[in-house]
Parts: sequence; structure tokens; C-alpha cells
Amino acid sequence: MRERAVSGHPDSTGRTPGATLPSVTEREGSTNASTSRPAPPSSCDASARCDDTAASLGDYRAAFHTASLPMAVLNRDGLVLAANPALGELVGSDPDDLVAATAADLTDLGADPRVWAAYREVLCGRSDRLRSTRRVKRSDGSSVWVEVTVEAVAEGPLGGAERVLLSLADISDRHDLLARLRHLQMHDPVTRLPNRTLFFERLTAALEAAAFERSGTGRIGLCYLDLDGFKAVNDTLGHRVGDRLLSAVAQRLTGCAEHTGERGPGRAGHLVARLGGDEFALLVEDSTGTDQLAELAQSVLDALQRPFDLAGQRLSVSASIGVVERTASGTTATGLMQAADTTLYWAKEDGKARWTLFDPERNAHRMTRQALSSTLRPAVDRGEFTLEYQPLVGLGDGRAQGVEALVRWRHPQFGVLSPNRFIALAEENGAIVELGRWVLERACYQARAWQLAHPGGEPLFVSVNVAVRQVWDSDLVADVAGILAETGLPPQLLQLELTESAVMGSAGRPLQALQALSDMGVRIAIDDFGTGYSNLAYLSRLPVSVLKLDGSFVHGFRSQEHPNPADEMIVEALVALAHRLGLTVTAECVESAEQAERLRRIGCDTGQGWLYSRPVAPDLVEALLDAGRACS
Ligand code: C2E
Ligand code: MG
Ligand code: MG
Repeated sequence: MRERAVSGHPDSTGRTPGATLPSVTEREGSTNASTSRPAPPSSCDASARCDDTAASLGDYRAAFHTASLPMAVLNRDGLVLAANPALGELVGSDPDDLVAATAADLTDLGADPRVWAAYREVLCGRSDRLRSTRRVKRSDGSSVWVEVTVEAVAEGPLGGAERVLLSLADISDRHDLLARLRHLQMHDPVTRLPNRTLFFERLTAALEAAAFERSGTGRIGLCYLDLDGFKAVNDTLGHRVGDRLLSAVAQRLTGCAEHTGERGPGRAGHLVARLGGDEFALLVEDSTGTDQLAELAQSVLDALQRPFDLAGQRLSVSASIGVVERTASGTTATGLMQAADTTLYWAKEDGKARWTLFDPERNAHRMTRQALSSTLRPAVDRGEFTLEYQPLVGLGDGRAQGVEALVRWRHPQFGVLSPNRFIALAEENGAIVELGRWVLERACYQARAWQLAHPGGEPLFVSVNVAVRQVWDSDLVADVAGILAETGLPPQLLQLELTESAVMGSAGRPLQALQALSDMGVRIAIDDFGTGYSNLAYLSRLPVSVLKLDGSFVHGFRSQEHPNPADEMIVEALVALAHRLGLTVTAECVESAEQAERLRRIGCDTGQGWLYSRPVAPDLVEALLDAGRACS
């Protein structure tokens, strides 16, 4: 009877015995419980014990039913044995209808694998408690945020170790407040788009998901966009107009992302974020390839092409976009952003108002450039540079009159590098000053050594290339004077080659330097003449004594069957004019005897090229001197 009184008696809600609080029989039938439970006090007789139990069970039931905290008692399979009215009210159902329901479905405990595993641990008795914030669906379709607690029930009238108590605390208000705060924290107030922080959070999550889930494409894509000339808008029209423009751009980007993002089955639009300033990003999760990204980037350019109407102001803007698309595995958020940043830079460099796709080869080239640029200076100190010399040959007698010093970098990683790979970099970062000084010193030592080794004959002069930055950023005149004094090389045996663009418009310091060098007795040659302004009239007023005709002129001297008379006529006129102005002429890139013969007939003074010799190590020049300098 006591059993029935507890478990079989219909309660105030009219529940049937099987669907109500667990029975005492069930509880006591638990072998585990009975072995572990302490023995009842010996002073207590059996009927008194039953009365106490019934009374306390009644108290428990009353508490359970009147509690404002939504609760349910579960069995070890996670099925609801009893639910209180507060829980019924929370989920919008009659509490009786919840009996036999799966608690995990009711409280969304199965959605997250980690929460689900922890929940199973509590059900199995391996863990005492689980707490998790979940979103519970109500019967009317609305949902409510709750903190779910699942805990093993202690020994007692509720059924002891066989039972688990589920309780739910409504935290919707707190959750909404936190969500609002998070939204503010993660969104840009001007455009209302996700900000950089949220973008990186989503990007990282997308990369993780793509690496673990098999359902997607396993790829990821990114368009990284920067408005062209936005600073001018801010500067000329003010920040208010600038902000409005950003907001209008954001709307168009969102339109593109929604339009192209929705096309796949079950897809939402792509994430659009403002990363700062006038930079935006469109993230394509589960991308299908570069075509998809290219299409998106083009749609963005098209969308931005229409002028913006901002409170009476009509504004046109364009954008540059760096596009990256790759497999997600092995890709990090920072790696992807770096690639996008580089590609955006290329898009700007290539002329703006365009999208550019990431190119691994171009990137490798850039990385090599960076690696070279940063190691140039230490490489000078480590002695990684060497000089080769190429004869400058008299076209009349075919004898070497001088040599041009040409620098090479014996790079420990990349092998021997030609100057075209690093001179421009050295000019950019200023290392050319140290490198140029080293070249000058080494070449002068070498020329002096040849002179001393062959005291009898006419000595060879050395021609050294000088970059414009050496004239501006160092005291070239003092360096030359010091090196000549130190090496003992007569100034007449030194020629300096500068390009025409370097001396064009020379005024002030460069002109004074040229004059001082010339006064010292050093010859100045204009290198690659014909590729720049070709302003002979101007050059004749500078202290220049040699013109080195660019190789392209000689290349124009085609073979006998395909003559190019124009090139020949130009060279003829140039040589005549140069001679009238007191300049001598050297032709570069003489590769055939035929070219040499025509140059000789035209009146060109010296030639340099593979016909005579490639640039060679100093000991081969030595051998040439020993052989009487005959180059042809
Ligand atoms: P550049 O001063 O006009 O030097 C001539 C270049 O033409 C050399 O290339 C030489 O190897 C190449 N050349 C010579 N004969 C022929 C030929 O018959 N056919 C063809 N196709 N090419 C020929 P290199 O050594 O690669 O030097 C390239 C450029 O690097 C030089 O052009 C010069 O502007 C620069 N450079 C070389 N050494 C130095 C240096 O020490 N300082 C500075 N500032 N620039 C240097
Ligand atoms: Mg040169
Ligand atoms: Mg040249």
C-alpha cells in the first residue's frame, strides 16, 4: 500500500502511477543502491521508517510541483519520468505530455558533440553534473535560452542513483544582453558590417570546420578589397561624406554577397566584413574554385561602377581586389590574409580598378626579392660579391683598351646571381652605396694590379657602373679620390658609367660631383644611351666624354638578308654628332663580326660584346693581356 501511496496514487494533476515520480520499489530494487546504502538505524522500527519515507516523499513531490525552477526527473536512458509545471510552462506544453520524452531533444543537448558526450557521462553515472547553455524550442515555435543542469540524484525518496535531475534556468534576458554587447563589439558602427575581430573568428572557424567536415568542398576563398583613392574623398569632402560612402559601398557588397552566395544548395550569403579604413573582405566558405571567386570579384567591381548619390553629391569610386582561393587544409587565417594582402597590392600595382588572382609563382618571386633585399648589406660584409670583367675593344684594331667591371652575387642559397636580380633592390634599399663602394675599390685594385704586372704597354682602363643613388647618398667624389689614392691607380684609368636618366636634369650636387670627378681626370660615360631622352645637346654641356650606345641599336643591325637601314642610319648620325661634340662612342652587345664591321665603317670607336668576350674572371683578362690584348 505504501508503494502505491507513493508511486501509484494519482496526484493533483491526475497523473497515472507509471508516469509520475519514481516508485519506492524501483528505488529499493536497485542492487547497487542497496549494497552501497548505509543500514537504517537499528532503533527505528519498520513502520516508523515507512511513515517517514512517505512523509518526506510527499514533501519532495510538493516541492517539485510548486518549484518555480523548471525541472524533470529522468531515468538513466535520458527519458523524462516526471516534469514539473514550471518546465511545462517554459516549453509551452502540459507537463504530462513531456513524460517519456527524450530530455536531450527537449533541451538541445544532442546538438553539440562535446555537450552530448558530457551528458552521457552523467547518465552513465561516471560524472556528477553537467551545465550547459542551450536554446530550447517552445511548442509555439519561439525559443528561449536556458542554463541546463543535469545531475545525478542523491540517495533519497526520489529514487537515488537510478535517477537524474534535469533543471533549467531561464537566462534569456542575460543572454540577450550579452548577445547585444557582443554584436556591438563585433560590428563596425559606420557600415554595420562585421568587423575585423568577427571576420577572423569566422575565418578561423570556417577553416577548422572545413578541415574536419567531409560534407563541404574543403576549400575556402577570399576577396580582399580596398577602395582606390578613398583618402582623397575624406580629404576633399570630409569624413561625413567618407563615412556615407563606406556605408553605401557596404550595402552594395552585401548585395553582391547575397546574390552570388545564395546560388548553391542550402547556402546563405557570403560573409562581408569591414576590416578597417576602406578595406573590406568577402569570405566564401566551401568555395568551388577560382571561377567562383573571380565571378564574385567581378560582380563587386560591376556593382561599384555605378556612381553613388550621397545627399546630392555624385561620387564615383573604384576598387582593387586581391582574390585568393585554396584548399582549407594546411591554410591558416594569417596565411590566407597575407596572401590576400599581397594580391591586393598586386592589383594596385597593376593599375587599380581590377581584381587580381593570387599567383604562387609571383609570390615566390616576391619572397625571393624580399630575401635578397634583406640580405644585401650583410652579403657585402661577408664577401659574397665578385667582379667579372668584359673587354672594351677598339673597333679599328680589335685590341682591348679597357674592361667593364660587372658585379655578380655568389649567393649561398640561390647560386650566382646576375646584377639584374639585385642592383635595383640595392638601389631601393640604399645598400647600393656600400656595394658600389666595394665594386669601385675592388675594380681599381684590380686595374692597378694589371698595370703593375704589365709595365711596358698601354695600361687597361676600368669602367665601373655607378648608380644614381651613389651620387646622391654618398660622397662619391671623396670615395673616388680616396680609392684612387689608396690603390695608386691613375685617374685616367678609371671610367664611371652613369645612365642618361641619372644625369638628366643634373643640377646642384650631382652636376658638381660630375664636374669634380672630371676635373680629377676620371672619364664619365653615359651607359645604355638611346633608351632614355637621347638628348645629346644637353649631354654635351655636361662633363661627359663617352657614349655607350645601347645594345638594342646593334640588335637592329639585322643580317645581310634582313637589313634594318633605319637603325644603321640612326647610329651613323649619332656617331657623327657625338664626334662633333667631342664624345667617343662605344657600341654594346656586339655579337657578330658583321655587326662589328658595320660599326667600324660607321665610325664607332669601341665595341663590347660576346663577339670579343663574355664577362670573365680577372685571371682570364690577365691571359688576354699576356696574349697582347687581341680580341679578334
Ligand atoms: P650594362 O652596364 O649595360 O652592362 C652590360 C651588360 O650587357 C652586362 O650584363 C653584359 O654581360 C651584357 N652583355 C655584354 N655583351 C653582350 C652581348 O653581346 N649580348 C648581350 N645580349 N648582352 C651582353 P650584366 O653583367 O648582367 O649587367 C647588367 C647590368 O647590371 C649592367 O648593364 C649594369 O647596368 C648593371 N651592373 C652591373 N654591374 C654593376 C655594378 O657594379 N654597379 C651598378 N650600379 N650596376 C651594375
Ligand atoms: Mg655599364
Ligand atoms: Mg650598358
